[in-house]
Amino acid sequence: MRDHFELRHADAAGRIGELTVPRAGVTVETPALMPVINPNIETIPPVQLETEFGAQVLITNSYIIRSTPDLRERALDEGLHSMLDFSGAIVTDSGSFQLAEYGEIDVTTPEIIEFQYDIGSDVGTPVDIPTPPDVSREQAERDLATTEEALADAEAVDTGEMLVNAPVQGSTYPDLRERAARAAYDTDLDVFPVGAVVPLMNSYRYAEMIDVVAAAKRGLGADAPVHLFGAGHPMMFALAVAAGCDLFDSAAYALYARDDRYLTVRGTEHLDELEYLPCECPVCARHAPDDLRACDDAERERRLAEHNLHVSYGELRRVKQAIRRGNLLELVESRARGHPAMLDGYRALLDHAAALERSDPVSKDAFFYLSAESARRPEVRRHHARLDRLPVSGDVLLTEGKGGSDTYDHVWRVVPPFGPHPRELSDAYPLTAETPDRVDRAAQESAARGVARLVDANPDATVTLAHDDWDASALALVPDSVTLRNRVVDS
Ligand SMILES: [Zn+2]
Repeated sequence: MRDHFELRHADAAGRIGELTVPRAGVTVETPALMPVINPNIETIPPVQLETEFGAQVLITNSYIIRSTPDLRERALDEGLHSMLDFSGAIVTDSGSFQLAEYGEIDVTTPEIIEFQYDIGSDVGTPVDIPTPPDVSREQAERDLATTEEALADAEAVDTGEMLVNAPVQGSTYPDLRERAARAAYDTDLDVFPVGAVVPLMNSYRYAEMIDVVAAAKRGLGADAPVHLFGAGHPMMFALAVAAGCDLFDSAAYALYARDDRYLTVRGTEHLDELEYLPCECPVCARHAPDDLRACDDAERERRLAEHNLHVSYGELRRVKQAIRRGNLLELVESRARGHPAMLDGYRALLDHAAALERSDPVSKDAFFYLSAESARRPEVRRHHARLDRLPVSGDVLLTEGKGGSDTYDHVWRVVPPFGPHPRELSDAYPLTAETPDRVDRAAQESAARGVARLVDANPDATVTLAHDDWDASALALVPDSVTLRNRVVDS
C-alpha cells in the first residue's frame, strides 16, 4: 500500500487525489500540472508560477543542472528550492530525454539519483530508456530490460524522504506496457510516469496514447499516481484524466510561445492567424492580437506563455470540477468534438469501458446522452450487466411509454441507450438520463441489447416490446421470441 497518494473523488477512471511530497512538506492536489523549468531559459519565473498561477509543483532537469558548472555549484550549494525560488514540490528529470536524443549521457542511475538527492529534489528520476513508438518488439523488450535495471538501481539508493519515479515504457506494445507497469508497481518506488508518449501526441495519435495509458493502468494499482510524461496540451487533459492520469508536465506553454503558438482547449492557433483572442484570461482580455504582434520578441513570448498557462490551469480546474460534478465524460465528449483525432481518443477510451466502470461511481447527478459514443459509456455497460440479475416472469411489457397496462403481469420502462428496467428504478441514476428527443440508432441498438440480456436471463417470461419506431438495425438485435409493437405506427 502506498500511503503518499490518497484518492478523494472519482469519475470514470479520473480521480481527484492528494499526493503527499514529504521532502517538500507539501500536499499536491491532483490532477496537477507541472510547468517545465529549463534552468537556462526562464520564460516565467517560478515564483510567478506559484503566486499568479497557483502552481504547487514544477519539474526541472537535473541532468542539465549537473552538466552546467555554475548551475551545478549553485544547486549543490543553496539547494534547488532557493536556486529556483519556489516553495512547492520540485520534480527532477534525469537526462533520459538527452539519452534518447543524443545516444549517450555521462551519468548512471545511482549517480543521478544521488545528485538529485544532494540538490534537494523532492521527486527524483532514474535513467530509463524512452522507447519511441513503432520500434521492433525486440528493441522495445531490450530497452525495457534496461529500464527495469535502472529501476532496481534507483531502489538500491538511500533517498531518504525523496520520492522516486518509476517510469513505465514499452513503446506501442500494450502487453509490454502492462508488464512494465506491473514490474514498476512491484518496486518500492513512488510515482509512475508513462513515458515516450510525446511522439504519439505530436502526431495526433490519441487513440494509441489511450491504449498505452490503459495498458499501463492495468499493471498499476489504483493507489499509483500516474504521470503522463510530456503531456502539456490542454486539449487532451480531460481525455487523459478520464483514462486515469494524475500528473502532467508542460514544456508546451513556453516552447509554443517561442514560436508564436497559442494554446486553446480545441487545439493550437498561430498568432499570425488570429483576428481575435478567443480566451478570457487577463492577457487576452487586455490585448488585441495586433498588440501582441507589436511587442518585442521577449515580451510577446512572455505574454503568450502566460496565456498558455492560464488556459492550461483553467482547463485542469474545469476537469476537476467535472469530476466533482460527475460529468467528466460529458467534458471529454465535448473536447472530442474539437478535433477528429480527439474523437478517436474518446472512442478508444470507451473501448476500455469495463476498466472505467470499476472506478466509476454508481450514482451521479445526471447522464447526458450527447452522441452515439454515449451509448458505450460505462454506465450503460453496468446497467446491461445488472439486467442479468433482475428476475421477471409471466407476461411482460417493455415499453418506451410512460403509462401502465392491466393486460400484463409486469410493465417495465425502456429508455435508450440503457434498455429495460423496472419502474421503481426510473428515478435512480443513470436511468434519469437526459436524452435528445431524436434518439439515434446507436441508442436504440444499445437498448435492444439490453432487451436481449433480459430475455436471456429470464427465458420463461413472455416479452412484448413496444418501441418508438426503432431502426431495423436495432430490431434485428431483439430476440425472435419477443413480440414487437411499434408505438408510433399503432397510435
Ligand atoms: Zn488568454
